Amino acid sequence: MEEEQLSDGATHLSGLELVAAVDGEADETILAHLNECPLCRRRVATLRNLQHALRYRLYRVLCPSTDLLVDYCQGLLPPAQQARIAHHVASCPYCRSEVDLLMQRDPLIDRLLLASLLNGRVMRYRR
Ligand SMILES: [Zn+2]
Ligand SMILES: [Zn+2]
Repeated sequence: MEEEQLSDGATHLSGLELVAAVDGEADETILAHLNECPLCRRRVATLRNLQHALRYRLYRVLCPSTDLLVDYCQGLLPPAQQARIAHHVASCPYCRSEVDLLMQRDPLIDRLLLASLLNGRVMRYRR
């Protein structure tokens, strides 16, 4: 279980706890923390949006894959490909909302996203 220390020594919700909250399976401890903590509330909202974005993806055969979008957001692609994806994102509301979420650069969200999306793949993604 991954935990993140706060400056005052308390801990935020772990990735698994956030996912439980998104799935409506949060227990009382989790709900109590969410009540108190705007950061974790924001993370739950972001994850929920991502889940929607990913569900839409099933119907979006022409869209770039999420790992391409991740690379795009980090500027890791060759210029021609960056430009092609920028062009697509400008015209595609689904990819645009996904890029917006990816651009938020929340480290915990990044880890959860990559863990679920790049499942079983080699990660060349480092912070
Ligand atoms: Zn928190
Ligand atoms: Zn798209």
